[in-house]
Amino acid sequence: MITRRHGGRVTSIISREQLLGLNGRHVVTLERGWTMGECSLHPFAIAALEQLRHDARAEGFDLRVVSGFRSFMRQAEIWNAKAAGLRPVFDAQEQPIDTRALSERELVFAILRWSALPGASRHHWGSDMDVVDAAAIPPGYELRLSVDETRDGGPFAPLHRWLGARIASGRAHGFFRPYTGEGCDVAPEPWHLSFAPLAWECQRAFDPAAMRQAHRDVGLALQPVIEDCCEEILGRFFHVPAALYSSVRQPEAMAEVIT
Ligand SMILES: [Zn+2]
Repeated sequence: MITRRHGGRVTSIISREQLLGLNGRHVVTLERGWTMGECSLHPFAIAALEQLRHDARAEGFDLRVVSGFRSFMRQAEIWNAKAAGLRPVFDAQEQPIDTRALSERELVFAILRWSALPGASRHHWGSDMDVVDAAAIPPGYELRLSVDETRDGGPFAPLHRWLGARIASGRAHGFFRPYTGEGCDVAPEPWHLSFAPLAWECQRAFDPAAMRQAHRDVGLALQPVIEDCCEEILGRFFHVPAALYSSVRQPEAMAEVIT
């Protein structure tokens, strides 16, 4: 549970269950014009996103959210489908892997490259989102959220150049990129933005034992393997180094947060 003390009043920012994505009462649905489809975020992140969108608009970008809050159950569906071979699992070059040739342990780590462990997804917190420039999407274009789209020649390269400069100069209203390909083993996801003041508190409050219990409760696929190498999984795929957070200015709003 993360709470905030404000003038003698203590208000809840996110509960234990919400940290694991077990309910979504901490997030609010975004206006249609801010998204591509229905998305929700934590009110703290929405306030900062409004400022970032305002600045982006001045540069000709229409920064929109493709994916915001995702529940534990949704993440578990994705996980189970990949474990069962019903959804493709990709390698570092974004090519599908023949998962039948993998041991259970190899399969767990192959899935983790592109999909978070249910309960350990940053998308549970409402602080994290995947973004695109809606103004740069050609008619009939099918969104992939791939690194190519963000590089030179890709439709979102200008947005990402601008975002990169903003983050580097501490003018991104608290947002940063947790998945750069450095600091943890998750594949680089330039489109994934995180509102640092809230996300840092969520990462610090994360409870591995509560997550493992939630896995047992739903009978998550590969659960015994996950249990065996939980520490390694969290070290390689969950813990984003504190240095990445501190590269962005911490807005005053979260200064009084207590856990
Ligand atoms: Zn994401």
